[in-house]
Amino acid sequence: MQDQIDRLPKLAKDKHKENKEFFTKLKKKPPKQLDYIMQDLHEEEFERTDCLECANCCKTTGPLFTDKDIQRIAKHFKMKPQKFVEQFLRLDEENDYILQSVPCTFLGVDNYCSIYDVRPKACREFPHTDRKKFQQISNLTLKNVAICPAAYNIVEAMKQQIKI
Ligand code: SF4
Ligand code: SF4
Repeated sequence: MQDQIDRLPKLAKDKHKENKEFFTKLKKKPPKQLDYIMQDLHEEEFERTDCLECANCCKTTGPLFTDKDIQRIAKHFKMKPQKFVEQFLRLDEENDYILQSVPCTFLGVDNYCSIYDVRPKACREFPHTDRKKFQQISNLTLKNVAICPAAYNIVEAMKQQIKI
């Protein structure tokens, strides 16, 4: 797995133009069954891919923390939300709360998330390949294929399956 993760930025760069063209066409004319197709591709990929062998998203990017995430996680630590923010988060250029540093503080050496049950919504949903109207997050996906081997494989499978 590490080998694939190391090669991913280059692989994604090589595919960037092709992927961009594909998503431009997909946005213009998404297939009627796109939500179902994505659900299947996502499930098939995550039957093969074990996130515990990877954790590259937690190591290299980290999520946005919504107010609800902050409330829930602070409660888990029996901390005041403001204290949690001061200790772990910072505001980015778009005024969203993100981690002060990566790898994520809550990631263990065994790749387990120490706050798994209360983790941010963005962590639960990453890499968003099973979300409805997938064509609407193509810019995000173009970035995610360089981080997430599963997202990379799903986009490759999409291009095989959806002829547009
Ligand atoms: S979601 Fe993607 S990047 Fe994150 S651990 Fe799973 S395979 Fe790796
Ligand atoms: S909160 Fe958990 S799932 Fe989210 S980035 Fe940190 S370790 Fe990964």
